[in-house]
Amino acid sequence: MPKGADLHSHLSGAVFAEEYLQWAAEDGYCLEHQSLRLIAPEQCSRNSSLLPAARVVQDGKLYGQVLDQWSTRDVSGGGHAGHDDFFEAFAGFSALSRQPSRQGSMVAAVANRAAAQSIRYLELMITVNGDPVRTLSRTIPWTGSLEAAHSALLARGMPSLVSEGRQQLEALSRATQKTLGCGSASAQPGCSVTVRFLQQTRRNQQPQDVFAQFVYAFELAHASEQVAGINLVGPEDHPLSLRDYTLQMHMLGWLRQRYPAVPIALHAGELTLNLAPPEQLAFHIREAVEIAGARRIGHGVAISFERHAAQLMTLMARLRVLVELCLTSNEVILGVKETDHPLLDYKAANVPTALASDDEGVLRTDLTEQFLLAVRRYRLDYRALKRLARNSLEYSFLPGPSLWESDAYQARITACRSLQPISSACKGYLASSAKARQQWQLELELHQFEQQALP
Ligand SMILES: [Zn+2]
Repeated sequence: MPKGADLHSHLSGAVFAEEYLQWAAEDGYCLEHQSLRLIAPEQCSRNSSLLPAARVVQDGKLYGQVLDQWSTRDVSGGGHAGHDDFFEAFAGFSALSRQPSRQGSMVAAVANRAAAQSIRYLELMITVNGDPVRTLSRTIPWTGSLEAAHSALLARGMPSLVSEGRQQLEALSRATQKTLGCGSASAQPGCSVTVRFLQQTRRNQQPQDVFAQFVYAFELAHASEQVAGINLVGPEDHPLSLRDYTLQMHMLGWLRQRYPAVPIALHAGELTLNLAPPEQLAFHIREAVEIAGARRIGHGVAISFERHAAQLMTLMARLRVLVELCLTSNEVILGVKETDHPLLDYKAANVPTALASDDEGVLRTDLTEQFLLAVRRYRLDYRALKRLARNSLEYSFLPGPSLWESDAYQARITACRSLQPISSACKGYLASSAKARQQWQLELELHQFEQQALP
C-alpha cells in the first residue's frame, strides 16, 4: 500500500546491523571482544587483540552475537530491559555511523528500503556537527540568560559551523545520489524517495550545551533547504532530561519567536511509570505543545497520565498537532502495546496521527510492520490506513501549501479537483508547492493501488 512518508526515523538507528558490519569489514574496522563495539581502522593495527570486522562477517556465531548487541532482537518482555538494550545498541556501531564518509551509504540504504515499501518521502533525524557545537558552547559564559547566550554564540563561531553544516548536508545529498546511481541507467529504487533532515538536539546534557545545539539547529534549518525542521532526542527519563524538561521547553519557546519559520517536532511523553514518577508523566506533552509550540509530538504514549488529558487531546485536535505513533518502538523500549497504547484514544479525540518506524534497524522492523500492527491490534480499516498515509504528508515539514482544503481529505483545492487529466492550473499549483507535489503523487499511487488491489 502507498504509505506517503515516514516522519519519525533516526538515520543511525534506521540502518540494520548487517549493513553496518558489511561496511565495517570493507573499511577495515575492528571490534572489541567483550563489548563488541566498533573501533576505528586507524586504532586497529595498534592492538592485536581486537577482532577484525572482516572476520566477523565470515563467522556465523560471532555475526549473530554482534546482531544481538547492535539491535533489540534478543529483548523479550520489553519494559526496562528493552530501554537499556536499545540505547546501548547505538554504542556498538557509533564509531562508523558518526563518520560523514559512510552517511551517503546509510541514507541510500534507508531510501531503498523506503522505496520497497511504497514510501515516497522521509524526514530523517540526524546530528550535524554535534561535537563542534558542544565545544563552542563551552567557550561562552553561561549565566542563564538566553538572550546573552544567543548573541555570544552567534558572535563566536556559530555562523561558520552553520555554513560548514550546510555544505556537509549538500555533500551528503550528492553522496547519496552517487551511491544510488541516480540519473544513470542503473538507478536504484531509492532515487524516487525524497529525503529531508531534522536536526537533532540531545536532551540529556547541561543547559548551555542543549541551548547551543538548539540555536545551531534553528540556524541550520534556516540556512539549509535540506533541513526541514528540528527535533529533541535522547532518553526522556535521563535525570538531566527530567530536571530540565520545562527549561528546555522555554528555550524552544524563546527561539521559536526568533525563528518562526522553522518547524518543531518533539519526542514527548515517551515514558512509563517504570521510567519516571507520575509527576513527570503529567506535563511533558502539554508543555511541548503549549510552551515549545511543537507541531508534531513523537510517541505521546503517556497522554493518559497528563493532567486534564482529555482537555489536552481536545487542544491538540484543535491546534492540529500530529502524534507520530511508533508501535514497535513503544512495545520494545517502553513495554507498552495493545490496549495499553493510546492509539485509539487519539483516534477517538480526533487528534491527527501518522505511523512511524523510529529506528527500523535497531528495532528490527519497518513502516509496513507498523501498518500491519495497526490493523491486527486496533482493527483499523483501509480508510483509516489511507488517512494515516495522507496525514504523513499533510503534516510533513515540506514547504508549500497543501493539496487539500482540510485534513478531512474531502476535497482537493479547486485547481486540482480532477485527478486525471491534470489541469494546467493544478500543474502551476504543484510547481509552487513541494508538499502538494508529494501529495499529488500519493493520490496517483493510491488511485492505482485501489484499481489493482481493491477491484
Ligand atoms: Zn525517536
